[in-house]
Amino acid sequence: TVSRLRPFGTTVFAEMSALAVEHSAVNLGQGFPDTDGPTSMLETAQRAIADGHNQYPPGLGVPELRRAVARHQENHYDLRYDPDSEVLITVGATEAIAGSVIGLVEPGSEVVMIEPYYDCYAATVAMAGGIRRTVPLVGDGDGFRLDRDRLAAAFTPQTSLMIVNSPHNPTGTVLGDDDLAEIARLCVEHDVVAVTDEVYEHLLFDDRFHRPLATFPGMRERTLRISSAGKTFNCTGWKVGWVSGPADLVAAARAAKQFMSYVGSGPFQPAVAHALDHEMDWVHTSSIELATKRDLLSAALSDAGFGVHRSEAGYFVCADPRPLGFFDGVEFCRMLPERIGVAAVPVSTFVDDTAPWRHLVRFAFSKRADVIAEAAQRLRRL
Ligand code: PMP
Ligand code: GLN
Repeated sequence: TVSRLRPFGTTVFAEMSALAVEHSAVNLGQGFPDTDGPTSMLETAQRAIADGHNQYPPGLGVPELRRAVARHQENHYDLRYDPDSEVLITVGATEAIAGSVIGLVEPGSEVVMIEPYYDCYAATVAMAGGIRRTVPLVGDGDGFRLDRDRLAAAFTPQTSLMIVNSPHNPTGTVLGDDDLAEIARLCVEHDVVAVTDEVYEHLLFDDRFHRPLATFPGMRERTLRISSAGKTFNCTGWKVGWVSGPADLVAAARAAKQFMSYVGSGPFQPAVAHALDHEMDWVHTSSIELATKRDLLSAALSDAGFGVHRSEAGYFVCADPRPLGFFDGVEFCRMLPERIGVAAVPVSTFVDDTAPWRHLVRFAFSKRADVIAEAAQRLRRL
């Protein structure tokens, strides 16, 4: 492995999922749902396969999906994109992120990201030869918030890009309008492109509301907005994602993407188009159920003796095992599957400066209620 990639090793998701399998543990490590998405979406994919949609789709993605992605953003956020030049279908959000970073980051230029950061950001910035500048979230009682002074200090004349992830993995934090406005102001002032990872855009709880950074003044023309079907429609294995933005920025992402996968997920693309057009009620119901699961798992962790942080969105809740006598999240997560049959992920693997995060552990609640109940029983044995 080249030196650029050596620091990243094997992803923590692969390591913890392997331990979960080895010990028949309840896997609350890797974030994926254990129930299927809407039936009509599954049937559309089955039909697409039966009808012979099994060869390369067009380079930009099938037109009906690009049009559905554009329509969806107009309906939800009043953001208008031309489906023929401003929308690109990718192999999951992961490839949208990689394509955007590799297509836009010059070697030696700087990329600002919030810490903890979803693991692929650091690795793709390294692949592009960029330098990451992290802005740590800070505790605000039971949750986390952005430190705006540190955010402003992270921007330099070398900054070319900021990656913004809200709703946030791993903490479940939703950035408020004032945080987003400050990010927008800094991007405009420093002429920086924003890459926004919004894969949890429809999974907000307690009447929280998602507002894309691209809707802020001056941002539509400098934002690549990324989302994917995996989390919205419970189909993480289909790997259908997309990136929307001004044509020149989308072209940069495409320049990289065409030599990575070229295209992907042919028969799943019309199914996701169908779901975006017809199954948003299903998503709404699913997000309400997810909030209940968040409550179940948060209560179980608290009953077991963890300190539990507030999760406002997405799939994850962060918990503090120090009250139980565990101070190192990595050691804790390596021990947990064998000891009690539960898998989780250490938050310190999503950061550069591990000190403030060393103890913290991420648990996924995107699981059936009976699975969470089983995990709750096992957690009490700690
Ligand atoms: N970004 C974040 C914040 C994620 O949690 C994930 C995992 N779903 C991804 C990107 C990757 O998305 P995909 O599976 O569509 O590649
Ligand atoms: N996004 C999911 C998580 O954070 C899955 C990631 C993966 O397996 N690469 O757990």
